[in-house]
Amino acid sequence: MRARLVAGNWKMHGSLAANAQLLDALKRSLKPADGVRYAVCAPYPYLPQLAQALSGSAFAWGAQNVSEHDAGAYTGEVSGAMLKEFGCRYAIVGHSERRSLYGEDDARVAAKFLAARRAGLTPILCVGETLAEREGAATESVIRRQLHAVLDAAGAAALAESVLAYEPVWAIGTGKTATPQQAQEVHAFIRGRVAERSRNVAQGLTILYGGSVKPGNARELFAMPDVDGGLVGGASLAAEDFVAICAAAQA
Ligand code: PEP
Repeated sequence: MRARLVAGNWKMHGSLAANAQLLDALKRSLKPADGVRYAVCAPYPYLPQLAQALSGSAFAWGAQNVSEHDAGAYTGEVSGAMLKEFGCRYAIVGHSERRSLYGEDDARVAAKFLAARRAGLTPILCVGETLAEREGAATESVIRRQLHAVLDAAGAAALAESVLAYEPVWAIGTGKTATPQQAQEVHAFIRGRVAERSRNVAQGLTILYGGSVKPGNARELFAMPDVDGGLVGGASLAAEDFVAICAAAQA
């Protein structure tokens, strides 16, 4: 059985006081469950707070970005080794906001994926098409291009210790969710492309859906055969909603 994961992406939200409340509620409300992992990906300055607050809980934690470099004159950047030193498990790479707002192209995303792996982090690699690309029937070619950039750079075996997230850009933070069938179609397409390189890796690959996952739609999305959990933005900031979404992955 494939590992399931629900990961929260706080984006640039939070404060010490608000985080403390949220983390405390998560810790109290959710106990470890067989076959499902949970994680919270927070802004860098809050990672030590997460490390402390989530210790001994069902939740691992992660960063939302990582430098493609290991060390050096890269002002403002944070390396994988620095994250690992704090006990960080995951690093999101290639989130569509990084691609569109910070100009991260496929080559840079692949370099970040490699850097995360070198540091012993589990990358959560995001891929997804814009609305114009979907309407122009380019969904598959975009996903193939984004995926192959990483597969070519890292090899299929590297995906065995990674997580993929399909995040249609038109569904992120918009309140529009892909239907379970739309999500399933793309997840199956991703698994099929990975299977061309390694059937075993494809079968074991955890593929998350991200894009306006809410308590009301999580269960039917997660019921799709190739959807192995979720990457959750807005709803991960409300303890009750995030816990409900995490619980939906247990079914
Ligand atoms: C995200 O930030 O990766 C995301 C999916 O956001 P939201 O759930 O708010 O659409």
